[in-house]
Amino acid sequence: MLHSNRKWCVSPVDSAEELARKLTETTWCGCTGFQIGCYLWLNDSSSPDGAQEFAVVKVLDSNHCLQLESITFGWCDYERALQLILATLNGQDDRTPWRKPVNPALETAAEHKRCPLCA
Ligand SMILES: [Zn+2]
Repeated sequence: MLHSNRKWCVSPVDSAEELARKLTETTWCGCTGFQIGCYLWLNDSSSPDGAQEFAVVKVLDSNHCLQLESITFGWCDYERALQLILATLNGQDDRTPWRKPVNPALETAAEHKRCPLCA
């Protein structure tokens, strides 16, 4: 379930390896999102104290996104996280039966500035 009142500050990431490190080594504030190509990983954790959970979202076009997965990276080590990210990038999650259309509010770092989650 994607937090519907959240605005994510999305930053591009260069590689699956870099993303796996970011998702397993750092606790991010609730408005953090990462992007590789047409895939987004949006922090969907309900509180900064729990295990970090990220929604995996595929951008179809500027108005349409599909949530493919919800992954608790807080429980993954680097190897496992990398495996999951590569599977997503290879399109293996594109047809999960539980995928659903979502409409997340996405912002660049310049647009986002500060919100209650990262203030
Ligand atoms: Zn914020």
